[in-house]
Amino acid sequence: MGLLRKIIYGLIVCCTSFQVFGSDEFILPECNIQEVVETPITFFLPEAMGKHHSKSEIKSRIKRWLSYGNQVLSNSCIPMVRTLDNIEYVQEIDESWFQDIHTARDLLGYYIGSERVSELSESKAQYYGIVFISAESSFKSEWCGEADVYNNFFMVGLDCDDANLEHELGHLHLAGHDIKTINKFSGSLVLYRDSFYKKPKKYAHASTCAGRGTIMSYEKDQLPIYSTPEVSYQGDQCGNAINANNAKVLRDFAHSILSANKAIKLTPNTRQF
Ligand SMILES: [Zn+2]
Repeated sequence: MGLLRKIIYGLIVCCTSFQVFGSDEFILPECNIQEVVETPITFFLPEAMGKHHSKSEIKSRIKRWLSYGNQVLSNSCIPMVRTLDNIEYVQEIDESWFQDIHTARDLLGYYIGSERVSELSESKAQYYGIVFISAESSFKSEWCGEADVYNNFFMVGLDCDDANLEHELGHLHLAGHDIKTINKFSGSLVLYRDSFYKKPKKYAHASTCAGRGTIMSYEKDQLPIYSTPEVSYQGDQCGNAINANNAKVLRDFAHSILSANKAIKLTPNTRQF
């Protein structure tokens, strides 16, 4: 099989629902990761969330999100690992904050200290966000999260899919949606790219393969991978070098951190099958 390793996708147990997938063929690239970039994440939650869920239940759900994200990173051969830095409850956070991500970040700075928020925003590989109780009660829309790509900041709903956190973190690395979704919401690729101060790479888009989407896509049925031509599913490539290689976006980011000797941590390969 040369450089490719053939894997039976049926062996993958998805952390989201512990659903065991069928015996479809999933081919991942040969990958020998020795050094990974650690990306610690701090979660801020409304104190009122305790009325709906126990703190241990909330922590285990967040750890499940991180675990799913690490599976996606590992399957995509990206030398990066998500870790839990802290979970902090803030009395003043309420659902009204989630009407606008920039306002939410400003309010967070007001209550926990703008210097701390600035420090988190300026970090090279550290992320922070607010978890709200329910996507429906907050945005009152189909959105389950948002990302502020210039400030390492995200918002997600506790009741969203496990893949949602990694999707928002992908945005913070400037990984983008599939082109069909961009055309639908932004009008065109040109308008989409013009909306960024820091332009995303032209290959920073999600993909589909054999009818299933990669993690940055808007497909309901998703595979635990970033788009990349190095992965195929049921004989169909899950990306291409020209406009669907989000894995390269994240790999390049990780390599830039590693080469700068920042946030280096040696860990075993976390790939799960
Ligand atoms: Zn998105």
